[in-house]
Amino acid sequence: MCDFYIKRATMTPRTELSELGEFKLIEHLKNHIKISQPSTITGIGDDAAVVKNELETTLISTDLLLEKVHFDLSYFPLKHLGYKAAVVNFSDLLAMNVKPRQMTVGLAVSNRFSLEAIEELYAGLLLACERYNVDLVGGDTSGSQAGLCLSATVIGQAQEADIVYRNGAKEHDLICVSGDLGSAYAGLLLLEREKVEFLANPNMQPDLQGHDYVLERQLKPEARYDILKLFSEKNIKPSAMIDISDGLASELLHICRESKVGCMLYESKIPIDPTACTTLEMFKILPTVGALNGGEDYELLFTIPQSDYDKIKDSHDITVIGHITEESSGCMLVPDNGAMIELKAQGLK
Ligand code: ADP
Ligand code: MG
Repeated sequence: MCDFYIKRATMTPRTELSELGEFKLIEHLKNHIKISQPSTITGIGDDAAVVKNELETTLISTDLLLEKVHFDLSYFPLKHLGYKAAVVNFSDLLAMNVKPRQMTVGLAVSNRFSLEAIEELYAGLLLACERYNVDLVGGDTSGSQAGLCLSATVIGQAQEADIVYRNGAKEHDLICVSGDLGSAYAGLLLLEREKVEFLANPNMQPDLQGHDYVLERQLKPEARYDILKLFSEKNIKPSAMIDISDGLASELLHICRESKVGCMLYESKIPIDPTACTTLEMFKILPTVGALNGGEDYELLFTIPQSDYDKIKDSHDITVIGHITEESSGCMLVPDNGAMIELKAQGLK
């Protein structure tokens, strides 16, 4: 996991994109791409991909990633970037309780990038597609004056009755979260620190030993398809759901605003991995503050009626962190010790 600094330094052959041209680049990429979804009729190669929907409803979601705004290639390997770009898009559809089936990718690259670099990026995108069983069915490619720009659109189909929105939370519902929070932010802090030190002294060796878990959460996040499978096994349909890209506080406030309800969130219940706690404390950040405001964990935050509690209580990967209240009670955080305070979303970057 942590060997990418070493990998970056090794020499790889370099083929200029200008030697290839857009047409050949697409042909080249196409050779590595296979289609497996029954609903995909045609993928890359024509003016548009063709997807057959039968009687289901279509869901579409797009994310845009810009170099220096959303990622920093000085510590983000291209393969990881491709993987993350795909997975964060998948996470948006999973947050609607829908499995993604197709994806398109828009790519703008400057001549700073070689064919081999683009291959690395696509290796990551395609690995994610393979793991999550999503077809890469098209995209667009262009030159760029500055930096790398990557946009992915995911498409999924579902029965309308199965779709979960942000606006369905009801008073007394339980607020649940998958996995643990704050780890991706802890990973980002470490990588940013190493970058500053590397710029000051390019001969230094990165000090990332022992931080594999939080680094992996930042550099190679996963989307929680396993939680959707659990919902279907246990016959659970959350009343509201969102994925945690901007931090627990911000996402819970979204659910409450859209559902016109309040909430009571218990600080002591927020799941935080011990290694994330150690890292956050090393940076003098309270672990709960990192979990509430850090972001990029891509866990699922959802609400269920109390009557469904028995269905989730034995799952080690789901934690009940609070409950929904009426709107007039406001959105409140109950600290470990001390009086209730209003829940606020504060960006941490
Ligand atoms: P057009 O000129 O009609 O936009 P393109 O030459 O851009 O066609 O694209 C040809 C085919 O290659 C299309 O099927 C398109 O979806 C696909 N494609 C183009 N760029 C990419 C990319 N970066 N990733 C995946 N597929 C791509
Ligand atoms: Mg095009």
